[in-house]
Amino acid sequence: MTYSGLRIIKEAITGHKGWKPAWREVEPKKDYEYVIIGGGGHGLATAYYLARNHGAKNIAVLEKGWVGGGNVGRNTTIIRSNYLLDGNEPFYEHSLKLWEGLEQDLNYNAMVSQRGILNLVHSDAQRDAFIRRGNAMILNGADADLMSTQAIQKRYPFLNVNNARFPIKGGLAQHRGGTVRHDAVAWGYARAADRLGVDIIQNCEVNGFQIKAGKCVGVETNLGYISAKKIASCVAGSSSRLLSKANMRLPIESHVLQAFVSEGLKPVLPGVITFGAGHFYCSQSDKGGLVFGGDIDGYNSYAQRGNLPIVEDVCEGAMAIFPMLGRVRILRMWGGIMDMSMDGSPIIDRTHIDNLYFNGGWCYGGFKATPASGWCYAHLLATGTPHEYAKDYRFDRFAKGGMIDEKGMGNNPQLH
Ligand SMILES: Cc1cc2nc3c(=O)[nH]c(=O)nc-3n(C[C@H](O)[C@H](O)[C@H](O)COP(=O)(O)OP(=O)(O)OC[C@H]3O[C@@H](n4cnc5c(N)ncnc54)[C@H](O)[C@@H]3O)c2cc1C
Repeated sequence: MTYSGLRIIKEAITGHKGWKPAWREVEPKKDYEYVIIGGGGHGLATAYYLARNHGAKNIAVLEKGWVGGGNVGRNTTIIRSNYLLDGNEPFYEHSLKLWEGLEQDLNYNAMVSQRGILNLVHSDAQRDAFIRRGNAMILNGADADLMSTQAIQKRYPFLNVNNARFPIKGGLAQHRGGTVRHDAVAWGYARAADRLGVDIIQNCEVNGFQIKAGKCVGVETNLGYISAKKIASCVAGSSSRLLSKANMRLPIESHVLQAFVSEGLKPVLPGVITFGAGHFYCSQSDKGGLVFGGDIDGYNSYAQRGNLPIVEDVCEGAMAIFPMLGRVRILRMWGGIMDMSMDGSPIIDRTHIDNLYFNGGWCYGGFKATPASGWCYAHLLATGTPHEYAKDYRFDRFAKGGMIDEKGMGNNPQLH
């Protein structure tokens, strides 16, 4: 079934009886060409682009819970391509371009909203760093705009630009950045992949790998053994736990990141805004709630819930730039598990075990990467060679010193 305005009108006048499930419910087959582990945004996008770009057939996505239950449905929905380093910027710009055409491509309303993102500047040194970043973005074909304090005040009149502690001295804007409804991305990719014949199997947890003579030939699941020619791990925050079943130790730590939504307000915040003197970012959802977050909790964990010290830290960030928020009530908060890599950049690579591939280390920026990650991972799986935009996302960069350390923090995952 193709979704369209006409279809909505027809269903509205016929009692909404004609809608079909967005994807099939299937029993797993015994054997596949490709098994993708993890039905988050990246796993589903990989399956979709494998089928669409490479004509691959016989693909299964195995998801231990439900589609959209992981980080893809837990993030603060921000998309952007405002990166500094050459290893990152072309990849994220490719992703932003894919977001721009995604809804037509998937025939699904993912509420892609290019309302812009603004990184506030609070010191002269920070302005210098942002000018450098903006120039790197422009050199890579992205858009970047260094906004003056006056222009920011016009767009965000509630900001106190003369705040003695954190004066606003301008900001780096990317007007093509914005937000996308996160779980709709998972549903849209799932539906589009299903239409191309991909089997999406929920409640199917991979518990182990069958490895023979250095070659991965299948996976053990709670629904039985499934063999495949190529097996692709794509489980984000569970990466280190899953790959330990293949005796691999990854350069990744798992941490919790929390997100918060306030009660609904009238339109107050026209775009995404980030605080430059602490870690705080905020946008307003179409329903009116302010959606915001900050740092990860400072300890390793696989629990999808956070703790109070970070709640306090995030609220302090909010109060520093939006004192008016002091009387707004928080409606909901939750946590997701972040796969923090040692340099803050992801890995899309084959492993040392034949036929076993890996995608992970997205830290807290993997939502915006979803389309490009699926695109490049599918390319690697189908052709055996890294895609040019992801060619630096290799395991061996840690051994060879080719770190892609956007923040210059070193191997300090909780700071990336
Ligand atoms: C609070 C929060 C805010 C964030 N904000 C942003 C943001 O604003 N912008 C941005 O770009 N990024 C953001 N992120 C990061 C982003 O959400 C993640 O990097 C990205 O979603 C990870 O990729 P994914 O969608 O494939 O992960 P997931 O949706 O987590 O998918 C992985 C899937 O693997 C499944 N799985 C795990 N183990 C197994 C197994 N053994 N067998 C089968 N299936 C398994 C899980 O159930 C899960 O569904 C945020 C994350 C959080 C938690």
